[in-house]
Amino acid sequence: MALDGTSTWSAFQAELDGIPLVTDPAQVARLSQDWSIFSPILTAQLAQKRADLVVCPTHLEQVLRVAKACVQHRIPITPRGTGTGNYGQAVPLYGGIVLDLSRMQRICWIKPGSARVEAGVKPLTLDRKAKEMGWEMRMIPSTFRTATLGGFVTGGSGGIGGIQFSGLAARGNVLAVQVVTLEDEPQVVELRGDALRGVNHGWGLNGIVTEVELPLAPAYPWAEWIVSFAEFENLMRFSQALAESDGIVKKLISCHAWPIPSYFTALKSSIPEGSHCVLVMVAEPSLEPLQELVSAWGGQVCYRKTPQEASKGLTLAEFAINHTTLHARAANPNLTYLAARFPRGETGIQAAVQVHEQFQRPEGPEVMLHIEFFRSNGTAGCSSLELVEFSTPERLEEIKAYQRTLGITFSNNHSHYIEDGMRASVQDVLDLKRWMDPYGLMNPGKTRLATPS
Ligand code: FAD
Repeated sequence: MALDGTSTWSAFQAELDGIPLVTDPAQVARLSQDWSIFSPILTAQLAQKRADLVVCPTHLEQVLRVAKACVQHRIPITPRGTGTGNYGQAVPLYGGIVLDLSRMQRICWIKPGSARVEAGVKPLTLDRKAKEMGWEMRMIPSTFRTATLGGFVTGGSGGIGGIQFSGLAARGNVLAVQVVTLEDEPQVVELRGDALRGVNHGWGLNGIVTEVELPLAPAYPWAEWIVSFAEFENLMRFSQALAESDGIVKKLISCHAWPIPSYFTALKSSIPEGSHCVLVMVAEPSLEPLQELVSAWGGQVCYRKTPQEASKGLTLAEFAINHTTLHARAANPNLTYLAARFPRGETGIQAAVQVHEQFQRPEGPEVMLHIEFFRSNGTAGCSSLELVEFSTPERLEEIKAYQRTLGITFSNNHSHYIEDGMRASVQDVLDLKRWMDPYGLMNPGKTRLATPS
């Protein structure tokens, strides 16, 4: 797909007069990539993909003008926040424009329990503002300093806070979105509740999100501890018990099999050599019961930060979720990861222990378990962004096949097709696409069902 025969890029650009553009080839190349670099498979497929132009609207009226011009000239649009997505979602596969929404930075309002912001506002900005009123975001991605909230809702899945509130897909965790459609006459549409489900983790396949409305949680003073264990099984059992301790208010339970703790440069001097550890964020009043639980499971608290200390600089949030992968790859660029979900309860713990043992090798483990506990449908669950020493795509499949025999399931984080990702179904994404994007301009090539010829 490209401009039609009679149009030229300069005519298109003239229609965007007054809207910030990026034309410098090096900048365009940079803004055409995302963090799919964690996957050697995606890197090989996407590294050379480029937009023709990057357009950076600063407010809604400009987004409407861009949408209209793109419809008129049939120009593909790849929306972008700050490009921290991991599946190549923000990489333009068919040229056209990258629509950079990170300059839309207005906080529309914050009130007790909820907030509304423009798409380019960062989680950190909203979280800080809400805390001034005694509230905070229910969950933040570990990229809370850099990602946008528009990108989080359309490209992310959840984050720190998920052990209390589950993921973004859970009903009630995104209240509303404002979306610009790609119809002949682009519309500004408000979607609320179930009607927005096709936009949430919809990878920008249907419309351009210009505002998001999110629920807030009461803000707690969060203390940060690292608890180490000599035995991997005890790490898992302690973490499961903590996840199920309803009276302990918590925000993060992030487990790491050795040698992952050795990749955490800023933390490793605190963590005993050779031990497995769990990074924990709990509300300060929950520290006493947490200590009791640690003692009951034979753990050792090797790192403690008060909420005051934790709020300055280093936070454990930036060692969890895919920040674990980031730190690990800084130490060993050959590492990649698999996105797995474990069975609940005892079966899950036994599966984790078996995987941990199965892939040990004399030269170091081929698979290292990094497990995040979260809440889902009212109970504690765990998912893994397990680190793998990469050899071949076929070997990744063998590793997954073994784990499937233990009841572990996977989403394919090495694919740029939305069908292969975390969604159980993409029907609601495509239903909205049919309405909002009749010419198939939005993020083409990211669904198997509507791949341009
Ligand atoms: P982008 O990567 O720019 O875009 C993501 C997708 O959304 C793309 O498909 C894009 O086309 C679309 N999009 C972006 N903005 C809009 C818009 N306004 N309208 C329509 N479509 C849009 N994810 C988590 O969920 N939780 C984590 O804790 C987490 N940790 C991470 C850690 C690291 C180190 C890295 C590299 C990634 C991590 N991610 C995590 C993935 C990513 O950071 C999040 O999904 C993030 O919120 C994406 O925001 P972004 O602004 O960078 O979006």
